[in-house]
Amino acid sequence: MTEVLIVGGSFAGLTAARELRGRDVLIVDRSPIGAHQTSACALPVRIAAWLGIEDAILFEDSLMHISVGRERWDVRLPEAFGVIDYERACLLLAAQSDARVERVRVTGREGDTVVGADGERLTANWLIDASGWRRVLDASGATEGRDPHLVIGTEDHVPTALAPQADGFGFYLEKSLLRSGYGWSFAAGDHVRAGVGSFIKEPLQPAMTRLRERDDLGAGREHHGGAIACVPRTPVDGNVLFAGDAAGHALPITLEGIRPAVFFGAGAGRLVNAALAGTLTAAEARSRYRALHAEHLGGYAKLNRIQRLYRYLPEPVLRRLVTRGVGQPTRGDGEVAFRSLRYLDVLRPELLPALP
Ligand SMILES: Cc1cc2nc3c(=O)[nH]c(=O)nc-3n(C[C@H](O)[C@H](O)[C@H](O)COP(=O)(O)OP(=O)(O)OC[C@H]3O[C@@H](n4cnc5c(N)ncnc54)[C@H](O)[C@@H]3O)c2cc1C
Repeated sequence: MTEVLIVGGSFAGLTAARELRGRDVLIVDRSPIGAHQTSACALPVRIAAWLGIEDAILFEDSLMHISVGRERWDVRLPEAFGVIDYERACLLLAAQSDARVERVRVTGREGDTVVGADGERLTANWLIDASGWRRVLDASGATEGRDPHLVIGTEDHVPTALAPQADGFGFYLEKSLLRSGYGWSFAAGDHVRAGVGSFIKEPLQPAMTRLRERDDLGAGREHHGGAIACVPRTPVDGNVLFAGDAAGHALPITLEGIRPAVFFGAGAGRLVNAALAGTLTAAEARSRYRALHAEHLGGYAKLNRIQRLYRYLPEPVLRRLVTRGVGQPTRGDGEVAFRSLRYLDVLRPELLPALP
């Protein structure tokens, strides 16, 4: 029997597979690896380096611009972030594992059997659900897009020639764009990734139109979007470990989901590997994965509370909060330093112990 079946060949699934090199691993995905980007793909450069995907970086910088109405903060982060080419990053990651890859659209799970849309029935000693917000291996059925806990986002890739203000990592906390959410504009080499994300599922196309007007952006050459799962869910069910958005691991408010997907994907992969090697019993591996997830629940709860309240915060309050977090708005060429509030220190896959 296959040792490990991973559903979803993206950030969480491919990172888990990389930890399971040498094992009999099958990754199933409904699409070819790297075919469907759903993310602006910004992540700390140190994590890209740890993953061995630096060659996929299109742009990197440590300067972030935050705008609330007419006020702007140029914030120097303590580390650089990079924007990556999704397909290239996934292929580089996949090349580091020796997993087999098959194209299957998983429709659910019957006990220990994974069921595919074309009648496939797949079993393995261990299952890792890395299928993103759909969480297709949940015993009670996959999550639907209308689930109230999901956040939604959409993005255009606008050629740099049609994006006059293209520089660095811009975040727009502006009520004129969205009542509860934010807009972004990230430089990405020959294009700008401009998008909007809503915490309360506001219509995104009108918000994109307003963002285009705000930044004088021309037509995008590529468009994508999807949901983001920021509310943690049960991480273990029988022989299934859930990692990344499938376990609600994306970070609330910032909607940074790659770093947690990589962190928990690596954790799941290492623990399953230890169980297969006999270093841990299966029960110990499951319980350690539950503990790894539980360790971070307090942080998720705090950020989710702020995310729920966000819709009630008018711009003057947002300005005060940003000022409290990073200092007075920047004038001229000035910069302010980011006070991390520990945000950047958590969920660092490169600091994960060999056996979490
Ligand atoms: C518009 C937008 C912008 C974003 N920008 C950023 C950003 O800049 N930085 C950041 O850190 N995060 C960002 N995020 C969040 C981030 O994209 C996700 O949190 C991250 O992709 C989660 O990784 P994952 O591996 O858990 O799931 P995913 O990346 O969603 O991958 C799930 C995989 O499962 C496969 N799959 C799904 N259903 C099935 C099925 N039924 N059968 C088989 N396979 C299936 C999919 O094809 C996919 O390959 C953004 C999200 C959105 C929507």
